[in-house]
Amino acid sequence: MSPKSIRIIGAGLSGLALGQCLRRVNIRTVIYERVKANPTRNNYGITLYKSTYKPLLDTLRMTEDDFCRQVGVHNPDSGALVSDDQRLRVNRAALTSLLESNLDIRFGHKLNNITSYGTSRCVTFQNGTQDLTEDFSILIGADGVHSATRSQLNLSKPVFDLEVLPYIVFNGKRRMVYSNLPPGLLDCFTTPNGIQHVQNGVLLSIKADFWNPDKQTVAVSYTLSRAADKADQALLDRNISDAETLAKSFVDEVATLGQLPAPFDSIFNTDTMSEDRLLHWLMRSSLIDGKVVQDTALNHGVILLGDAAHAQPIPGNGANLAIADALEAAKHMDASGKFDAAAFLEARSDWMNGKRENERALKALHPDGARKARI
Ligand SMILES: Cc1cc2nc3c(=O)[nH]c(=O)nc-3n(C[C@H](O)[C@H](O)[C@H](O)COP(=O)(O)OP(=O)(O)OC[C@H]3O[C@@H](n4cnc5c(N)ncnc54)[C@H](O)[C@@H]3O)c2cc1C
Repeated sequence: MSPKSIRIIGAGLSGLALGQCLRRVNIRTVIYERVKANPTRNNYGITLYKSTYKPLLDTLRMTEDDFCRQVGVHNPDSGALVSDDQRLRVNRAALTSLLESNLDIRFGHKLNNITSYGTSRCVTFQNGTQDLTEDFSILIGADGVHSATRSQLNLSKPVFDLEVLPYIVFNGKRRMVYSNLPPGLLDCFTTPNGIQHVQNGVLLSIKADFWNPDKQTVAVSYTLSRAADKADQALLDRNISDAETLAKSFVDEVATLGQLPAPFDSIFNTDTMSEDRLLHWLMRSSLIDGKVVQDTALNHGVILLGDAAHAQPIPGNGANLAIADALEAAKHMDASGKFDAAAFLEARSDWMNGKRENERALKALHPDGARKARI
């Protein structure tokens, strides 16, 4: 391995996209990923803007048709892509597999600790291995919303703040056999936004995850979300580990909704939901101070990308921002350890607007007073 190869922590969307961009300009990367290799991890749909993925096509040496065939979600009846003028629904697991090709990814490496001595740096992983560099190599923190790389920089408020927004959101996933689909469900395979229904101010949404013609199965993700009130404080304060144990609250909420129209009545159904994977999500929002991005690049050789720098709540544009960050970052770094943080930040100055726009969109989706009406 060349001593100047770039280390990336996290084989998520930003880390992999960056690895691909740098591969094209013959800069080697080593990507350390916490989890073991698993091609079906993250087997759900995400919505990408065409303006996000088109610049990747050159890097991947792919036509748009090939890209859409490989990662796009298709409608089981018409075979059409789930897309509109601007957006495409893609299966995240398929996108990840595509982006992983030909990269040096060390799975099962969870970053624990970073120690620097002058221009030397030692990165220690939970499995006991270490990565020691004796020059000022670039280290990319692309390890998502709970970034361990960011934690190692000891950034605190107001430089970095992970803010929990006042919304309650539950998510479920369901896989069904095509021949048993409830009436109207395939409407969510006609647009990237899926289908939505508001009942008592509570927003119910169903979106396409994938259609598997070999197994004749269809998968969807569904969410229930609403503005929070004081009674929800425990849900807003919960720990990461409670995400799964709060499934009962999801079912309890659905039980209060009353009769729903098809196909929402089949998906948000308290009997069938118990078979699904249910989670309570926190809507987290964060934004790192641009000056800090410059300082950490200059003084530590560490660059934070994607959710590690600026998490958006879901639904949001986190994947689009993560890929755009990677494409832009690749333009400003070279294998000698140089990174032009100022130029990178200037090009990505929409981080701040993106956060505000996303928060405005969430507010518009969740009318105030919703919960009072429901109770
Ligand atoms: C269900 C769901 C639906 C979504 N839908 C959309 C959508 O429609 N549109 C959109 O734009 N965004 C969407 N998002 C958000 C989007 O997926 C994220 O914003 C995006 O993946 C962020 O990319 P990233 O590279 O910053 O982080 P991630 O993709 O989260 O990757 C981080 C990687 O780092 C690894 N890692 C973490 N800690 C360590 C460690 N200590 N050591 C080593 N590796 C580590 C993780 O395992 C992971 O592989 C959705 C997210 C979810 C969960």
